[in-house]
Amino acid sequence: MSKTGIIGGTFNPIHNGHILLALYCKEKLNLDSVIFIPTYTPPHKSDKELVSEIHRLNMCNIAVQRYDDFSVSDIEIKRKGKSYTYETLTGLKEIYPDDTFYFITGADMFLTLEKWKNPEIIFEKAIIAAVPRNSSDSEVLSSHYQTILKPMGAKVSILDEPVLSVSSTFIRENIDNYDLIKSLIDRNVYEYIVKNNLYRE
Ligand code: ATP
Ligand code: MG
Repeated sequence: MSKTGIIGGTFNPIHNGHILLALYCKEKLNLDSVIFIPTYTPPHKSDKELVSEIHRLNMCNIAVQRYDDFSVSDIEIKRKGKSYTYETLTGLKEIYPDDTFYFITGADMFLTLEKWKNPEIIFEKAIIAAVPRNSSDSEVLSSHYQTILKPMGAKVSILDEPVLSVSSTFIRENIDNYDLIKSLIDRNVYEYIVKNNLYRE
């Protein structure tokens, strides 16, 4: 009967916001472990700047290495095609039928959940955890839950504090300015990016 957090994303690249998001949810929701799941093809994102799934998977593995309760799953990468969360949760539930899943989302993702494919299956398989990405997000999260997601049957836990204001987009745009991003990304992930010449046109 473990409580397992799940964070899906492109992780293009994984940054400290993702790690702090996992640590914060683990503590507040009393989770036993957190699984990071990099997408294969994200259903709603342009893949213009998306590096290969193998690089994104490798970077996730590097970033979680020092955290005993964090792991990375290649379930979406192995499945290929569009990475739909309802399919992923259905697959994980078959592997871990006794676990309670918490699907962890940042505010931007949380506010679009009702438009994802088969949201009712997502809500049946997991409790949704929502974390603000900046201080103005909190109220929007509660009202979105009350007006849209609650009527759809979602069980939601809204956490109050933003963790760190950073996005993968910001990291990609400033990849040559290590001083600016060094506190926002794992050093070994940064070295992997440099070694493999990622995010440079
Ligand atoms: P991009 O800029 O490429 O969209 P991103 O930083 O938003 O990248 P994703 O891989 O899209 O990263 O995000 C995966 C999940 O992590 C999403 O639910 C997203 O909302 C959440 N997330 C990402 N960064 C943060 C952050 N700084 N604080 C809270 N949640 C975050
Ligand atoms: Mg994003």
